[in-house]
Amino acid sequence: MKKCNLCGSYVVQLYPGAFGYRCVRCRSTFIHRAMGKVLDTIDLSPDSEVHEFSAHGAIFRYLNKRFRKLSFSEYFDDVPGGGRKMVLFVRMFRQLHLLIIFLIW
Ligand SMILES: [Zn+2]
Repeated sequence: MKKCNLCGSYVVQLYPGAFGYRCVRCRSTFIHRAMGKVLDTIDLSPDSEVHEFSAHGAIFRYLNKRFRKLSFSEYFDDVPGGGRKMVLFVRMFRQLHLLIIFLIW
């Protein structure tokens, strides 16, 4: 059985086609897993500053585990162009409490 290179869990075929192969834990697709393989070949330092244009999903979780200086952004469809919104999230990452503040300008 294939293993996910992002989280180490199993990849199973949920439905026909290339997108049907998903990880049972992180739900990555073959595209996510391919991105992870490319990142592994680049061999960036864990201290590299990395930005992800999403705050959820398999790649976000993978980057969050791998890089100490991960920044990220999120799109809010209720914020008009030029508007701003502040959302406050407190989450448990790596057994540390991190305060994450989103600012949309
Ligand atoms: Zn996975």
